[in-house]
Formats: sequence, C-alpha cells, structure tokens
Amino acid sequence: MSSPFFSVLVGIAPFVPFFVILLFLIMRRQKPCPDCGEPLSPFLSPFKKTWRHWVEGGYICLKCGCDVDSDGRKVPAGTAPRLRSVVTGIVMLTLVGVPAVLLLLFLLHR
Ligand SMILES: [Zn+2]
Repeated sequence: MSSPFFSVLVGIAPFVPFFVILLFLIMRRQKPCPDCGEPLSPFLSPFKKTWRHWVEGGYICLKCGCDVDSDGRKVPAGTAPRLRSVVTGIVMLTLVGVPAVLLLLFLLHR
C-alpha cells in the first residue's frame, strides 16, 4: 500500500488545515456591495482588474459592476490609486525585484 499517490497524499495532509483556515479567512473577509448588497467576490479576473486594484486591492461587484476599494467603499470609475499605495507598491517591487535580479546576475556570471 505504498503507491506514489498515497505518498503525495500523506505529504500534503499536514497542510490541509492551513488551506482550510486560509479559505475560511478569505470568505470571512467578504464584504457586501455598497450599492446592491451582493457579497463581493475576493477572486477577481486579472483581465477585469484596474491599475488601482493591482496596487491597493479592491473588488468589482459581480451583480451591478461597481468598483469597490479594499475597505468596502464605493470608488468612482477611473479613480487613481492613493499616493501612499503607489509608494508602497514601488517599495515592495524594489524589495522583491532587486535581490531577484542580483541572484540572476550572480547565477549567470558564475
Ligand atoms: Zn453591486
């Protein structure tokens, strides 16, 4: 009874509670649409996301299509991200991107 499938199952078993808790937290964070009250889906198609969604998060109501920020407030269409969020985004990209580029250069020039 030691098929590869069984081994994989045993290997991922300790992580199952973690994923259940994560999913539970995501579902709990669901906020209602400020316009129509429909629960906002935490999962948004990357093609529907705006620049603001990528930088500071937010939702698009699946029922009425209104744009909602991460705190559950309605956002008028075409609103630019807050400056603080843009700065945070750039800093995060730098913190992740610079070591990645350095590592790549290091590996290429070995
Ligand atoms: Zn709505």
